[in-house]
Amino acid sequence: TTEKSAVFIIFGGSGDLAHRKLYPAMYNLYKSGVLKDHFAVIGTARRPWSDDYYRSTVVDSLEDVDDDEKAMTEFSKHFFYQSHDVTDSDHYIALKNLAAKLDDQFDTGHNRIYYMAIAPRFFGTVAEHINSEGLKTDGYNRLVIEKPFGRSFDSACDLNSSLTKTFSESEIYRMDHYLGKFMVQQLTDIRMKNKTFEKALDHKYVSNMQITLSESLGVEDRGGYYETAGVLRDMIQNHIMQIIGAVAMDEPAKLDSDSIHEVKRAVFANLKDLTPEEVDQNFVRGQYGEDATGKLKAYREEDNVDANSNIETFVAGKVTMSNERWDGVPFYVRSGKRMPAKSSRIDVVFNDKVEELGIKPNTTVTFLIEPENGSSILVNGIDYQSANQDFIKFPEDSHYFDNEREAYESLMIDILDGDQIHFTLWDELQNTWKYVDVIRQQWDNETPDFPNYMSKTIGPDAASELLEKDGNTWVWDA
Ligand code: NAD
Repeated sequence: TTEKSAVFIIFGGSGDLAHRKLYPAMYNLYKSGVLKDHFAVIGTARRPWSDDYYRSTVVDSLEDVDDDEKAMTEFSKHFFYQSHDVTDSDHYIALKNLAAKLDDQFDTGHNRIYYMAIAPRFFGTVAEHINSEGLKTDGYNRLVIEKPFGRSFDSACDLNSSLTKTFSESEIYRMDHYLGKFMVQQLTDIRMKNKTFEKALDHKYVSNMQITLSESLGVEDRGGYYETAGVLRDMIQNHIMQIIGAVAMDEPAKLDSDSIHEVKRAVFANLKDLTPEEVDQNFVRGQYGEDATGKLKAYREEDNVDANSNIETFVAGKVTMSNERWDGVPFYVRSGKRMPAKSSRIDVVFNDKVEELGIKPNTTVTFLIEPENGSSILVNGIDYQSANQDFIKFPEDSHYFDNEREAYESLMIDILDGDQIHFTLWDELQNTWKYVDVIRQQWDNETPDFPNYMSKTIGPDAASELLEKDGNTWVWDA
């Protein structure tokens, strides 16, 4: 392990994301030696906190991660707090001076990682001030930005142009934490090393693809945010589309960022645009009601949710592509809250012609993205090792047995390495927003009949009918 050097500036350092994801991930990097002596973290937020108090919140955030008090305390000594209002220029000067001081103290090579763990409406403002107050250094300067990246094509363009005044595309790391998940990261390698399987990923042999990201929880305490989003923006435009990219892309020339993005870019450019009529035929939306016992609240009864809200908590749809490889193959996608279980999976359903390649007719191959443990590839519902069909297996040299690294940890290593391989590029985003905007606009024109599925069920009936009319069924029906 090579030690990395940088000063991190975390905007929103007192927030939920920082404490739940970033600090635990950074601590694990500290334990493994990726972060050691040459790093410092400046947490910023509005409240006037002392360094000591901030450090105690950092240590508290590690409660479930470790019980090595000494290491946690040593780690927290790298953390410094700066109270900050995102619109106040003087505060950026203070931040710049503190970063320079810590750079000297920890010898971090003038490198800066600016992390936006803050409300999306501030992303542009912060980036512009980093420019106008001259925070960038002669080391590297990397901007990490969380979702949501805009809420439509137009707003994503506005956001992007406010960022690119300060940061070039190669300095922007757009987070999609599904791209940090073990199985999603392994997919390319698995495809490239199982030649028969890769050959079978073609319209000649694939009946349909299914991508499901289901959650069993409701909106919990995030109703306010959810009212501005809905599943289409929160899950389909980003995570589901990126998974489609990983499973549908052609073989990259090399396993590096440029080659992967080149073939992924082609997938998003090949998405077949929908007409408003096709939105009605191919996309289904839903919103959860109470559960059967009446104990779980309906979405419209949740805190900070409008009693007549038309925000969708469930989407199922059929995505198709215009290139030859995927000609006529439906990619069924589905995501929802308050479903029977949390499950993230890709089901590849082969047709009967696949026998030509020595694969049993109508075989289904499932990649389990979550839960992380247990069997990760299933063949007809059975762990691939027991399934007795050798066309699909984990590459010998894969890290299959060492897969507990958390998504944020793995993505943080990429950021420190300057590797954009698992981040979303701007041209990909433009195409996915354009695709999703058509659906949003059509839905905004019509009032849905919500709620239309009971909590803890598989979603509205229309989601099953969507496949039935093509002669297909969902592989995962809980
Ligand atoms: P949060 O509300 O818990 O934290 C927001 C932070 O911003 C706090 O530290 C707050 O003090 C600071 N802040 C607010 N107004 C400020 C101002 N005017 N000046 C300076 N600082 C200010 O939010 P969060 O849940 O941590 O989310 C942060 C970002 O991460 C958002 O963009 C969100 O969409 C994204 N995100 C969060 C999660 C999650 O699980 N929490 C998941 C995915 C993406």
